[in-house]
Amino acid sequence: MASAYLIKPHLHRTYPIVQYGKGIYLYDTDGKKYIDGCSGAVTANLGHGVQEIINAMNKQAKKVAFVYRSQFTSEAAEALAEKLNKHISRHTHYWTFLVNSGSEATETAMKIAIQYWQEQGINGKNKILSRWLSYHGITLGALSMSGHPTRRVRFVPLLEEFPSVSPPYCYRCPYHCTYPSCRLRCADELEEAIIRIGAEHIAAFIAEPIVGAAGAAITPPDEYYKRIRNICDRHNILFIADEVMTGLGRTGKMFALEHWNVEADIVTLGKGLGAGYTPIAATLASERVMEPILYGSGVVMSGHTLSANPLSAATALAVLEFIEKHQLVQNANKIGGYLFEQLRSLQASFGWIGDIRGKGLLIGMEFVHPKTKEMIPSSLAFTDMVVTIAQKNGLLVYPSASGNGKDGAAIIIAPPLTMNQEEAAEFVDLLTRSFVEIDHDLPT
Ligand code: PLP
Repeated sequence: MASAYLIKPHLHRTYPIVQYGKGIYLYDTDGKKYIDGCSGAVTANLGHGVQEIINAMNKQAKKVAFVYRSQFTSEAAEALAEKLNKHISRHTHYWTFLVNSGSEATETAMKIAIQYWQEQGINGKNKILSRWLSYHGITLGALSMSGHPTRRVRFVPLLEEFPSVSPPYCYRCPYHCTYPSCRLRCADELEEAIIRIGAEHIAAFIAEPIVGAAGAAITPPDEYYKRIRNICDRHNILFIADEVMTGLGRTGKMFALEHWNVEADIVTLGKGLGAGYTPIAATLASERVMEPILYGSGVVMSGHTLSANPLSAATALAVLEFIEKHQLVQNANKIGGYLFEQLRSLQASFGWIGDIRGKGLLIGMEFVHPKTKEMIPSSLAFTDMVVTIAQKNGLLVYPSASGNGKDGAAIIIAPPLTMNQEEAAEFVDLLTRSFVEIDHDLPT
């Protein structure tokens, strides 16, 4: 059913109608079964129809679903913030600001960063540096920070020119060198940009610990974030980690920055926080960032009508309890390890699989020209073909980007963190079948 009422992502396509979901599977109204191999948009981290979450939602909805945050706080919102603080750091205390989407979380991070300097009487530190090949959200502030060319292009006149440095994209190193002999030239670019623009104009640097939508799980070399943290500290700018996609167990750690033993001043969460059961996201600000605001105006100048609503907060709290109880962070490591191994063995059979990267259950696969290993031009719509053939075979994978963000074909594989060994083998089987079909259709 393609109505003329609901605007869907592509107006000329027809979409299956979902009937229900159970675990890692989705079923449409024709009875077709799909493995949700990407948790929707890397969001349904617990899988579908989880009874504990439904019970928690029910219980909270019966008590009270909504209060306005200027009038009431709630036990659920308070408990959620406390739990997030418990997980994020052993060294410092973080405060949580609740919002409803990843875009709102990064916009809030941007505003808190600017406010942090203003509260100290330092005006003019208003820019947020970011990287080419990044995605921080669709609203204008978040898009200003994003280096996602196709999502920016129509709105460029309204956007700030925030993206300014190269990502740590070793597979296609912008400097044509290899780690470690490159000495992290891409990280040094941040320092050069700060010097060029002037630290007195810069509030913060924002980065996804592992680049998601714009880069299909681009994963930095080991020393990268230590260097970034150091550059930010030396030049007195804040470091914002956008963990909307990577946070809460997805990469095999609760927070992806833990892989490199680095802490950010501000951290954003979204997607997996509500795990698709409710729209909720969060901006976490460290004690250092909150202090001048606490002793200054006492007001974080952001917020939305539905911020911190008890129903969403209770749902997210149940999601975190579920992750703890079922040891999903450990499971992401275990199943992720198995999938990496299996996918790497597919590389030997299909010359157009160029790079496989990521951590835990956030896995990117970049496709290349099988002979020259060059980027696949977007005009060939290769990613679309992969996604469509997989979906026909009952497997959902997430279309991503690579290369320069315009050309370059890639997908993200990110099944629910609940996936078991048997389901992972079924996933590999369906993906292999889809790849055989693609291979068969390719011009020789
Ligand atoms: N930040 C990152 C890293 C994301 O991957 C996304 C969405 O894909 C966002 C922010 C924006 O989140 P939302 O789509 O919930 O607004």
